[in-house]
Formats: sequence, C-alpha cells, structure tokens
Amino acid sequence: MSEIAVWKNKNGRVLSEETISDLVGKYDTPLFVIVRDSIIRNFRAFKKYFPGVEPFYAVKANPHPSIVQVLHEEGSSFDVASKNEIELALRCGVSPGNLIFANTIKRKKGIRFAKEMGVSLFTFDNDNEIGKMASIFPGAEVLLRLKTASEGSRINLSYKFGAEEQEAMELLRKARGAGLRPVGFSFHVGSPCHNPHNYTVTLQVVENLVSEAAAEGFELKVVDIGGGFPLHLTRDENPVESVESMAEAVFPHLSECMRRGIRVIAEPGRCLVGSACVLITKVIGKARRSGRYWYYLDDGIYGTFSAVPFDKATFDFHTFHRDVPLEPCVLAGPTCDSLDVIAEDVLIPPLELDDKIIVEDIGAYSWASATAFNGFEKPTVVLV
Ligand SMILES: *Cc1c(COP(=O)(O)O)cnc(C)c1O
Repeated sequence: MSEIAVWKNKNGRVLSEETISDLVGKYDTPLFVIVRDSIIRNFRAFKKYFPGVEPFYAVKANPHPSIVQVLHEEGSSFDVASKNEIELALRCGVSPGNLIFANTIKRKKGIRFAKEMGVSLFTFDNDNEIGKMASIFPGAEVLLRLKTASEGSRINLSYKFGAEEQEAMELLRKARGAGLRPVGFSFHVGSPCHNPHNYTVTLQVVENLVSEAAAEGFELKVVDIGGGFPLHLTRDENPVESVESMAEAVFPHLSECMRRGIRVIAEPGRCLVGSACVLITKVIGKARRSGRYWYYLDDGIYGTFSAVPFDKATFDFHTFHRDVPLEPCVLAGPTCDSLDVIAEDVLIPPLELDDKIIVEDIGAYSWASATAFNGFEKPTVVLV
C-alpha cells in the first residue's frame, strides 16, 4: 500500500500550487511540465560529481526537443540509438562529433544515415554487427560493449546486451580484421543502479582487457560507463541514493583511468531528467466498485504512466486537499482497456471530478513511451 502524499506548497517542491493552477488554466490537462532549471541543476551536479567525465545524455530517457536543446546549450553530448534520434539531435544544433550511436544492434539505414551525417563513434557486442557495420562504414570507431553485473538495478541492461569478458579479445580482433577501428569499451550497469560495485567490478575487467589488448597492438583509449545513475527524488527528504553518493564510490576509479590517459564518457539519462518533469492530470470519472472508489484520470498506462509497466516505476500522487482523512482507492487511466490501471491501494483524500493530481519525478521513460491508444493523445508538454 503506497501512502498518498498531500500536496504541500513548501520549499523543495518542483512547482508551486499557484504555478500549477496557472499552467492548467492556460493549457488544461493532462499536462507534462518540463522544468528547465531542474535539468540544468541535474546536469551541473553530474559534472560536479564526475569532473572530467564527458556526459552524453541518453536521448531515449526523454526525447523532447526542448530537453535536448537545454542540455545542448549546457554543453552536453548525446547518446542516440536510431536514425530518428540522430536527426533530432542534429535538428537541435548538436554536431555529429558529439554523438555516440550506442545501440549495439543497429538498423542498416541507421548506420548509413550516421555515416552520411558524420557520426563516427558506435558500440557493438557481437560478430554479426561487425560484418554489418564494416560493409557500410569501414573505418568506423567502435566501442565493445561488455556484459556487467546488474545487481540491485530495477532494469537489467545486460540481459539483452553485452559481450562476455572471455569473448572480448576475439571480437576486438574480428572488428580490426574487418576494417573497423576498436577504440575502447562500454557497459551499462542497469537502471537505476543503486550498487556501485556494478561499476567498479566492470571497470576492473576493462582495465585488464585494455592491458591484454595493448599487447596485441590495440590502442584502447575510451571507456564509456553508460548510464544507470539514480535520481535524486523530489519526494525523498533525505536522499541517500543519488548521483552524489554513486560518484563517491565510483569516481576514484574513473579518476585513475583518466590519469592514465583514458577518455571517460558516460551516458546519463534518468538522473538528468527524472526529477525535472511534473505531470498534472485530472479526475475525469469516479465510481464506487467493490467497496472502494475508482478514480479515472485523463492520463494512464498507455500515456505518461507507461513508466509503470515499461520502467517498473512507482509514483507518489499529490492533491491540493489538506487535512482530510485519506481513503484507499484505485487510480485508473482513461482508455477502455482493463490493463489501464495506474495504481491500486493508494491512500488519497476524497476527490471530485476535475480535481487535479500532481505527480513528480516522472521525467524519465514516461512521456518517451506514451502512445495515443484509443484516441487519448499524449499530454501537452510545456517547458517552464
Ligand atoms: C538507456 C541507456 C542509457 C541511459 O540509462 P539511464 O539509466 O537512464 O541513465 C545509457 N546508455 C545506453 C546504451 C542505454 O541503453
């Protein structure tokens, strides 16, 4: 049972009650608010805690052009995974040299487009990809993605991706033999990662492989530590798991890499945008079923709450009602599908039609995977 938080207009909230009312008056709901200052704060915090590490924002976390724009202005580079993501970044003014095509399984047309546009850094983790890439883009610089421990991470990104340590040397030789230019390694510890060992254990593997490869004449000078950095949740009064605490454990190892002349890059997604967006949704229906209230909202599982099934995310729900007894209820989305239930056993003040529900920390893997199923369009997006 998750306890619903009553909306408190106090320091630490991303948006004040007044701002929310103004925005809803102007744009109606569902409304997805991107807070520019939060993105900038998160980005600068990342740079502060990982000095010298080059951030490549993972566009898939939230591909809204205004986010790409803000991060581009802050000097970020970008991790893209498809032709469309490359196009988006270039449209926002990012230069192709600041992109990494970090999908180890690429469509041919994606590789061709990347080559035409001047993107030159890629990842791979298997020999079929070597053949495909070498035939389209001989001479491309590639990072070998390694499988990692994903202990304690909600989403395991080494289930579907990553070469085993034992096959690494053979893949490097094959890539070089085929005419690609291996320049380093990448990995992803899972998302969000709360266990610094996932990074440090893999960095040790990378270190060993760099030496082993050097003996065969490879000059491997790039380590891409991927994403997975936890976000500093707005709802946590005393956050213990944040980019800061992760950096404390991991940065000394990176610093050592950089001291030895290795370029360290990262692909943060969640930690830059997760806490930087707020969803405002409204009650559009209310029914009493089997002894509890069901509230139907104008956004649901097929929309911004796609984060629930896809990202296994859970959220707190705030309302403007104060000092009223809470009641257990079910929150559901607007579509005709029974799957479209956002949360059960939520404690919430009694609500009426048109009451607003505010959801913070919903910036990552939410709007990105929203659909317009059943005719319910994605929420209006506004940058404040
Ligand atoms: C999704 C993804 C990221 C971003 O991960 P976060 O956990 O959101 O930081 C980075 N790199 C790759 C290759 C990814 O697939």
